[in-house]
Amino acid sequence: MPRRRTPAPDWAAALADLVVPLECGGCGCPRQRWCQACAATLEGPLLRARTRADLPVPVWALARHAGPPARAVSAYKDRGRTDLAVPLAAALAVAVDGLRAAGELAEPDELPTVLVPAPASARARRRRGTDHVRGIVDALAADLAGSVPGGPVCVAPLLEVRGRVRDAAGLDAGARARNLAGRIRRRPEGTALRATPGAPATVGALLATRATVLLVDDVVTTGATAAACVGALRAGGLAVDGVLCVTAA
Ligand SMILES: [Zn+2]
Repeated sequence: MPRRRTPAPDWAAALADLVVPLECGGCGCPRQRWCQACAATLEGPLLRARTRADLPVPVWALARHAGPPARAVSAYKDRGRTDLAVPLAAALAVAVDGLRAAGELAEPDELPTVLVPAPASARARRRRGTDHVRGIVDALAADLAGSVPGGPVCVAPLLEVRGRVRDAAGLDAGARARNLAGRIRRRPEGTALRATPGAPATVGALLATRATVLLVDDVVTTGATAAACVGALRAGGLAVDGVLCVTAA
């Protein structure tokens, strides 16, 4: 039997690049994907974010956009760490429980919970190869539906970004607002909703049902995106109870 040939150095380097290093998405510590210390940074009291844009509903965030939470959000959306959707969503689910316990949101046995993902532009989706907020929202819905006490949950991707929109990164507040003005629209009727039993499964049923409606985004900065989303939903007849984000800049 011939011995297996040792790979040439360039081939070995290419292989090494294929191996995703196992490290924490928040602090980079080795051998775990999301360490306890970083998880704890999302477990503090929920922040009520003050945004430059005027929002008619509260904006809640798990943490300031700094340190491990910010690194986790950016690793999740721009560095391929899709596995972080689950721990980020789990922290959001704890926050939803806390808001219910504090009386800010209805209990799950009173009203179904409707999660609306903040939309990404087609360009951002292509660049990332995924709709990253939708990934967090799907994981959050699964978490809420499976929690005790559980309740009906619906993922309602009702919004889209139309036309040419520059990616918001690097834009100042004014440019960001102009960038978004009129671009965030409701999707046409007939948009598929993902609902557990007892939650509205069509847009028509959703509009005819009392529900707890949360707009979910990864990070809120100026609030321009959230304000445009809440405005578009309200114009379509859907009252929004609040905006829930992982981080607030
Ligand atoms: Zn960590």
